Amino acid sequence: MMPYVEFKALAGYDLVGVASPSAFAGLSPGESPLSLFPDAQSVVVLGRRIRRGVFRSMEEGSLWSVAGRWLTGMDGVVRAIERLGYECVPFTPADAPRMPREPVRPGQCRPNGFRISVEYAAVAAGLGEIGYHGMFMTEQFGIRQSLGLLVTDLPIEPGPGRPAGQAPICDQCQECVRACPLQAISPGPAKVLAWHGRQFPVGGVNALACQACPNGVAGDAKYFAGAEELHFEIENNQVKGEAASRFVGGSLPNRLAAACGRACIAHFEKTHATGYKIPFRIRPPWGFRPDQPKED
Ligand code: SF4
Ligand code: SF4
Repeated sequence: MMPYVEFKALAGYDLVGVASPSAFAGLSPGESPLSLFPDAQSVVVLGRRIRRGVFRSMEEGSLWSVAGRWLTGMDGVVRAIERLGYECVPFTPADAPRMPREPVRPGQCRPNGFRISVEYAAVAAGLGEIGYHGMFMTEQFGIRQSLGLLVTDLPIEPGPGRPAGQAPICDQCQECVRACPLQAISPGPAKVLAWHGRQFPVGGVNALACQACPNGVAGDAKYFAGAEELHFEIENNQVKGEAASRFVGGSLPNRLAAACGRACIAHFEKTHATGYKIPFRIRPPWGFRPDQPKED
């Protein structure tokens, strides 16, 4: 088995997590990353810090730039693993035409039926936790990272794991709630996620409001992890026609640079050292409602 520190150096990402396969016991085939590669020994989550400048123009209300949630180019790691003689399946959901609409073997998930939560695997690996707003957060970067998932038959020691007794990253400050001009996040927790022996109180998020939000929300490309799109039709707070996912965010667009996400970045910087010479929030935040009268 490759030691975690050795794999971390080989991968060379800002965040490198390896979840124990047992973390996915009990999930349905469509929810478990291990279904992607039945011979998999390890589930790997990689993260890349999103530069703060990507959020700057949205914070200033000048240029709309998308802070991508998902890593799509993990080619270097895949090739490094293959050079060791092992195989690797990066998670890239697809909805190609003429894909079989039923499982190819009994007990498997249909090829386009995966609803894998990359965040669930990231928490299992000890990379971070889910904040009150339902977005993934790390001690290093808050919400500012893109995540990617791959499964491999290379046996890797799980890690880094979360140190016991470490304070929650989300301190329940409710800045994300107050920052939303649409009041889309409930002021009290709607549920407590119990993941991998830890508990995360999360607010209820009105997915329809987020779809209409003019404050920096974005749709990721359709084939990226989660396939959580602005253009999907939402019904009962989930993508229409899809089975409910037990994971957060199943129907939510990319909110990293929206008013809620940027409020969390501003708060995170007040409570964590990030090394930047000027604070993220310099001017009062802006915000609009989609139903307010427009100026001529
Ligand atoms: S803004 Fe505060 S309450 Fe909301 S997710 Fe961030 S730390 Fe948690
Ligand atoms: S995306 Fe917009 S509507 Fe949704 S919670 Fe964030 S600020 Fe509110």
